[in-house]
Amino acid sequence: MTSPLPDIELSEELIRRFDKLGPRYTSYPTADRFNTGFTEQSYLDHLAQRAGKPGNPPLSIYVHLPFCESLCYFCACNKIITREHGRVAEYLRYLDKEMALVAARIGPDRKAVQLHLGGGTPTFFSADELGQLMAMLRRHFDFSPDAELGVEIDPRTVGEGTLAMLAGLGFNRNSFGVQDFDAAVQQAVNRIQPLEMVEKAVEESRKAGFESINADLIYGLPKQTLTSFGHTLDSLIRIAPDRIALYNYAHLPQRFKAQRLINDSDLPSAEERLQIFMMSMQRLLDAGYVYIGLDHFSKPDDELNKARLDKTLHRNFQGYTTRAECDLIGFGVSAISKVGNSYSQSVRTVNAYYERLDQGRLPLEKGFALSADDVLRREIIMTLMCSAPVEFEAVNRAHDIDFSTYFAHELALLKPYEEAGLITIDPDAIRVTPKGRMFVRASGMVFDSYQTQPTTAAYSKLI
Ligand code: SF4
Repeated sequence: MTSPLPDIELSEELIRRFDKLGPRYTSYPTADRFNTGFTEQSYLDHLAQRAGKPGNPPLSIYVHLPFCESLCYFCACNKIITREHGRVAEYLRYLDKEMALVAARIGPDRKAVQLHLGGGTPTFFSADELGQLMAMLRRHFDFSPDAELGVEIDPRTVGEGTLAMLAGLGFNRNSFGVQDFDAAVQQAVNRIQPLEMVEKAVEESRKAGFESINADLIYGLPKQTLTSFGHTLDSLIRIAPDRIALYNYAHLPQRFKAQRLINDSDLPSAEERLQIFMMSMQRLLDAGYVYIGLDHFSKPDDELNKARLDKTLHRNFQGYTTRAECDLIGFGVSAISKVGNSYSQSVRTVNAYYERLDQGRLPLEKGFALSADDVLRREIIMTLMCSAPVEFEAVNRAHDIDFSTYFAHELALLKPYEEAGLITIDPDAIRVTPKGRMFVRASGMVFDSYQTQPTTAAYSKLI
């Protein structure tokens, strides 16, 4: 079955042929390549290099808030399940220490243009605690007046006035974890949140003035069927968030302990998942959403789609973004930073995090310093992830190479993709075709010098 659609073509046959295990490339190299050879001193050196030069890019800030009241069985995040809300005060004290250490090394004149609170459950924090966090961030960093301030929201934690309180703190975009509205699926994953709850939270977000509302769905969850997920999609389309992310559930119980609580026999088969995925794509497109790339859809007038059409779309740890390359500064346990040509990640446990900060040290665990070849490959992979053309002349000029010689091996490896109509290799550029937009992970992986054999332990497939 092949159905022509505006600027994307779905093909079941191509999915069967080209759906490979592969990373989502929120970074290159991918986070599993970060290593302890990259130390706290390496991170400090990268910060110092940036601070010493004029014309540095603006900042995008991520804060990881790890606490959740109950465990969702599909969860693959770094979280702490607890009902002790008293733990937040201590965590906030340490975030303040970490921010002070980093802010002192950032250098002057660097505006923060983006903030994202993720988790865990950011709304585990009370209104007062979130107010303290925002005051702390504003004390340490200079936010531009038009900064995008985003927060992940668990609909179960939304009470009377929560959304207005968040808007009052300056948040202008939010993202709801919806996953599935079906009662049997919610039961099977231990996350009960009726449709009306999400509906009300989205409505209140609009009233409170949020500029962009995202909803996450997950397909491939236990007890899901083609019919039940069709109902979930219909309900969500009626609620009409500006953006929808449709994630594929990767069942990796050997890696994520929570997933051991899911009954394998309740999971849809590979064939059912494929049918659910095809139906979902079609239904979202029929409802007027446009495909941004990988797992993401938006309304046509959303700025993500405008950026896609203008070829100014970017990709970072938060997924697709309209903001040009920023330095990303992460705070909190397991948070990732990207400063210049480096990535770094903090320790995963709160104990290790507190211990490091008590010693007056940054809580860095590992990272990666990119070589000139890594930077070049990152640029090409991220361009493909955004379905934009890889223009040889521009790459040659920026990196002082001859594309066809430097990437002769990769161009040969791309031939099957070209023959299947997923890309074109023209004399001046590689272009992703409407048929190929769903397979950019596979075509991008050709340029990844670290991924000779991705394993199921680390990556998922599209379906
Ligand atoms: S899915 Fe979100 S709310 Fe559920 S346990 Fe994981 S981090 Fe917490």
